[in-house]
Amino acid sequence: MNAEMGVGSAHLPIIEDEVVEYSQPPKTASSSILERTMSLAELLDMNAFRDVCTSFVDLYRIGIKIFDADGTKLIDIRVGNTEWCGYIFQNARGRSLCTELVTRIKQFSYPGLPDGQVVEQTCFSGLKYLITSISYGGDVLGRVVYGPFMPEVLSAPGAEVGTFGDGFEPERLWAHGHKIRRVSDEKVLQILANFRSVVDTTTFVAMKAYLTQQLHVESITASYNELAESNRKLRESLEKLRELDRLKSNFLAMVSHELRTPLTSVIGYSEMLAEGLAGELTEEQKAYATTIRDKGESLLELIGSLLDMSKIEAGAMRLNLSDVEVGPLVEGAKSYVVPQAQRKSVELIVDVQPDLPRLRADREKLRQCLINLLGNSVKFTPSGGQIRLGASVFVGARRMAVDDGRFGPPDETFVRLDVSDTGIGIPADKLEAVFERFYQVDNSITREYGGTGLGLAIVKRFVEAHEGEVWLETREGVGTTFSLLIPIERTMEATEIALS
Ligand code: ADP
Repeated sequence: MNAEMGVGSAHLPIIEDEVVEYSQPPKTASSSILERTMSLAELLDMNAFRDVCTSFVDLYRIGIKIFDADGTKLIDIRVGNTEWCGYIFQNARGRSLCTELVTRIKQFSYPGLPDGQVVEQTCFSGLKYLITSISYGGDVLGRVVYGPFMPEVLSAPGAEVGTFGDGFEPERLWAHGHKIRRVSDEKVLQILANFRSVVDTTTFVAMKAYLTQQLHVESITASYNELAESNRKLRESLEKLRELDRLKSNFLAMVSHELRTPLTSVIGYSEMLAEGLAGELTEEQKAYATTIRDKGESLLELIGSLLDMSKIEAGAMRLNLSDVEVGPLVEGAKSYVVPQAQRKSVELIVDVQPDLPRLRADREKLRQCLINLLGNSVKFTPSGGQIRLGASVFVGARRMAVDDGRFGPPDETFVRLDVSDTGIGIPADKLEAVFERFYQVDNSITREYGGTGLGLAIVKRFVEAHEGEVWLETREGVGTTFSLLIPIERTMEATEIALS
């Protein structure tokens, strides 16, 4: 029995009637919650634990008190000693001694007492209490105070009660003693050992559950902290990228602007040379001057696209709205690409439905859209091919956003502009990508044709700024159709709308 309880001697008293301060240093705040000492109240289901204690008290008729490590009383079940203690309490001296004893038991603590050690406290009246710790992994979680009980060998109340005076009758006190459990030291140790093993098991199971739960919490907390850190770094990188993007756009806008002015002079002077305004040229010289002009114009277009894109990205591009006749708009765009189409022997057909409604739109930007689409068609259509530029009214529902399955009102009116060609087509998996900035389906092909990969990105931004829609249908080796829907009625009536 003693081995089970960890008691070194068969006799009970180890520390007797001695108040010793609990000297274990308090745990310092730790980074890990696992290193925190749990209190019994946090650990145990107190209602279930109280039921267990009650069963023991009912069975052995000895009271049980359970204290938390900080001395908070969690459970107090008394049995048999009410009259005994009540009688003592009526006497002033008895009351003072009793309070002293209760305080001592309540504050009882001891340093370095091995786990499972039992300490006896004897009441001046002859009754006894046993105190033992509840611990886990070297941490004292709380205490059990078992008693009071009457030692089997006790034949009269403690001698001190004889000095109480004030009419106190030790015999009357003794008469109340029959309700208090009389038990031998061995027996009571045995009972306490049983109770302890129940408490230890309960604490062990509860601690395990708590540790498992805390381990989860710790690992989740660690992952969360890692994620938060990555998130912070990502946000920083994003901010840096945005800043770089802004700088790039400003740089592009500045450089493009600075290039445009001298380039316009290059084009102007080469044209004057080609036309012989600076004196007659030989055929070869004329051809050189024409090439300079043509290349200069391509360069100017490219710079124009870069400038447009950087303005869009800087939020500096605005729509200048006016009433736009669709027929002249389409003719104007067509005339711009006629020379290239003729050079490539590509047929250009315009098909405008009569009586089209006027658009409230930015004429120059819509013209730019059509020029970009027509320019691509000419570029990607082999000699002998055909390009058709159509304009018609479309009444119906628009897709609200690509692939989200939602549609607009069923009877919205749009002007629909289609640019179809019999060119090389676009692979099915590149349909979305072609609208991205600087994207070109095949660099080797496009290098052959030239271009920046900005044309369609600009078309998309301009059309969307008009609250319109752009999409394409294509088959490789057969041809491509780009379609624009520009709504007749606009929700935004401002004459200037910022593009973003
Ligand atoms: P780019 O300046 O290269 O023409 P765009 O943004 O206008 O840039 O077009 C992006 C890419 O989409 C082109 O490089 C080309 O690969 C493809 N593309 C655009 N229009 C056509 C078309 N009509 N036929 C075939 N491919 C096209």
